[in-house]
Amino acid sequence: MEPELATPFRERAGRALDDRFLQEALTVATTKFITLRREAFAELPEGDALRDQARAIKEATLQRLDYWLERLIERIESRGGHVHYATSADEARRVVLDIARRTGARMAVKSKSMATEEIHLNDALQAAGVTPVETDLGEYIIQLAHERPSHIIAPAIHKTKGQVAELFARELGRETEPDPEVLTRIARAELRQKFLDADLGISGANFAVAETGTVVLVTNEGNGRMVTSLPRVHVAVMGVEKVIPSMTDLAVFLAILAKSATGQKLSVYTSLVNGPRRGGEPEGPEELHLVLLDNGRVRQIAGPLREALNCLRCGACLNVCPVYRQIGGHAYGYTYPGPIGILLTAMLNGPAAVKDLAHASSLCGACMDACPVRIDIPKMLIELRREVDQQGIAPWPERAVFGAFAWLLQRPRLYRLSARLGRLLQRPFVRGGRIRWLPGLFGEWTRTRDLPAVARRTFHERWAALEREARR
Ligand code: SF4
Repeated sequence: MEPELATPFRERAGRALDDRFLQEALTVATTKFITLRREAFAELPEGDALRDQARAIKEATLQRLDYWLERLIERIESRGGHVHYATSADEARRVVLDIARRTGARMAVKSKSMATEEIHLNDALQAAGVTPVETDLGEYIIQLAHERPSHIIAPAIHKTKGQVAELFARELGRETEPDPEVLTRIARAELRQKFLDADLGISGANFAVAETGTVVLVTNEGNGRMVTSLPRVHVAVMGVEKVIPSMTDLAVFLAILAKSATGQKLSVYTSLVNGPRRGGEPEGPEELHLVLLDNGRVRQIAGPLREALNCLRCGACLNVCPVYRQIGGHAYGYTYPGPIGILLTAMLNGPAAVKDLAHASSLCGACMDACPVRIDIPKMLIELRREVDQQGIAPWPERAVFGAFAWLLQRPRLYRLSARLGRLLQRPFVRGGRIRWLPGLFGEWTRTRDLPAVARRTFHERWAALEREARR
């Protein structure tokens, strides 16, 4: 079980709201990401057309996923690579551990990969005697802190530079000022030898191009390039939905991915891995393995969360989400945070896992607006809420309140009577047209916001009055 899940979601969220440092770090980082993204798309007049095109490519690929995966496998194998299909997280871990064991690996350098977080690969490697070393700066920071990523693309977004300086002093014995450049220099010096010592390089993959058998990594720090070229063996772990048909398609995604994620025109490094090292090539691994991870994805092709399979993991929906911006990633409790994270959690762990999280959204639609492939996250969240309710696993107050409301809505006379009753009962609590406090269970609503008072006249009553007036 994820360690955070030992405490209920409300408590986790409450703790996050009380954390002054977290609030500061989240506000600074997400505001910066939002501004950069907006500016980047403002300079791209064809941005909307590219987003539509990207979505269409994703949809078309999903419709023939088996075909594109087969082509990908065939192309990679024809270039001397190996492809493994893992139906579950457990199977994916076993595949990587087998490779590590067979090749006698003692240390693995890793570039940032949510797929390996999803399968909890580091713990498994550690238990098998292989030391995993995260080499993306954000991942390195949270590995030192024994934490998990709190953002899809910025794993240490929840930490201020002061906290990172303290962490480096404590864990590395390096006292330093909280200057990002100095901190980066320290991390770089610590990691350099690890790249040379590691036997295994483990990465994720942003895309895999079926027609050429190319594994594509988009990074900003160059560590991805080192991880995929210095160790003897490279293992890439990738969700099956990341396959795309062609290089032309790749160009469309590259045009919008970095802009959505960090506001960059293009990420600093785009690495195209085309099989293991061939004779005469100066660098590259002796072995290349691609682990295709299903873990609940394939069954969603025909399921209610199908659209979530289009996700590029750019993180834009997290940055704009009013809930994520307040509570950060750890409060969600699972590997994938934010609005898309709720859907991915439901996909990987079933709807029961998100019976509380499905409500951690205001359904404002900001996520869909920001999403480069226009995933309709709010629609799927509503669908999830319905599923959670239908399965009878929603919290009982929610079931009771909505059950009673549904019953009332089907009885117009009683509904009208209840509006009159509500007007009467609310009187002691209304101040200036708002209800600022309610007793008991209802107080949860007014704890953080006001409730509009029941109107003096309902729409039906006003309509009836207008009709009477018109007849006169
Ligand atoms: S859902 Fe859209 S915005 Fe959110 S991470 Fe995925 S691609 Fe990016």
